[in-house]
Amino acid sequence: MNMHKIDANMHQIDTDKRRYHNSWTELNAEMRALETRDGNLLGAVEHLREHQLERGFIRDNLGAVQCYRFPHPDDAARFLSVQYNPERVNRLKIRVNAIPPERGDAINNDCFLCASNIQWQHRGIEFGYDVEQDNTHFHVWMNAYPLMPLHLVIATCDHIPQAWNLDETAPGQFTIRQIITNLAELSARMPGYVGFYNGEGAGTSVPKHFHYQFFRRRSVEEIFPLELAPAHAIDDIESVIEDYPVEGMCWQGGDPDTVINRAVESVEHWLRTRIGLRPTLSANIFAMTDADGSHLRIYFVPRDKDLGHSPHMAGMIGSLEILGELVLTTETEKHDLDRGDVDYQKIARILGDIRVPL
Ligand SMILES: [Zn+2]
Repeated sequence: MNMHKIDANMHQIDTDKRRYHNSWTELNAEMRALETRDGNLLGAVEHLREHQLERGFIRDNLGAVQCYRFPHPDDAARFLSVQYNPERVNRLKIRVNAIPPERGDAINNDCFLCASNIQWQHRGIEFGYDVEQDNTHFHVWMNAYPLMPLHLVIATCDHIPQAWNLDETAPGQFTIRQIITNLAELSARMPGYVGFYNGEGAGTSVPKHFHYQFFRRRSVEEIFPLELAPAHAIDDIESVIEDYPVEGMCWQGGDPDTVINRAVESVEHWLRTRIGLRPTLSANIFAMTDADGSHLRIYFVPRDKDLGHSPHMAGMIGSLEILGELVLTTETEKHDLDRGDVDYQKIARILGDIRVPL
């Protein structure tokens, strides 16, 4: 390349960066105005979704998804479900299309939750929203291959690991208290949504960069099997999930601080007393604030980092599976569904493969 070409190329890169920065600022101002108007994040994230669909970052409008429900054999009100989502396999191809960066633009081994990588990896079409929660700066990003109509990732601005810090001697990692508090308070900013944290080896696809996920339910009435599972009440806040393929605990009530404190105390105690014997313990943690903002629920499902997969299913077991909806993507799995080879028991067995006792 001669010097003129290099200069022209550098000029183009600068122009692209400036343009991306300006668009980011403009879009964030629009979302901030919506958040101020609504008093929550719902309008802002809908706006981001529309923007990311228009820009072509969100690749899948879920048009090919088929949902199946399998009733509980003894209780018609309960069920487990399957989402057949054939487009989702394409998510692994996204980074292949990224334009190589200028020297020095790639950081943290091309981590795809680091904002400065995101600009070049996605050719300037992926945008996020800057939010602050408990004095931590996050970016809200859209999932390019969503599992629900609006599926977002809330990642720290800093590149810090997903794993929690239980012994509190590892600065730069989140404590259980921070994780549960963040999730619960973010769920209050997105009432009606389902929020979750996938611990290391428990369905997380980016273990090196801390993030939560939230999604909008397919309808306001939609309730997931985990939420329908019977629970044995310890008292009016804490309960233990019963007759469900995985074990879990729930804390709920109208006063978020009380619910958060009880959940933090119980989870920390549970982990501290067991981690010595089972150092590979992990978890899925969920938070949902009702659509009217009046009631908070937090769920904790213990996991093991070495049990991320079921031998009876192709993909990794993540939060949607724990909520009671398997995500199947392969043609063989579709064939099993069409042949009537899948029922409540079969799904329960797949989830049972990753069950960790309380
Ligand atoms: Zn990162």
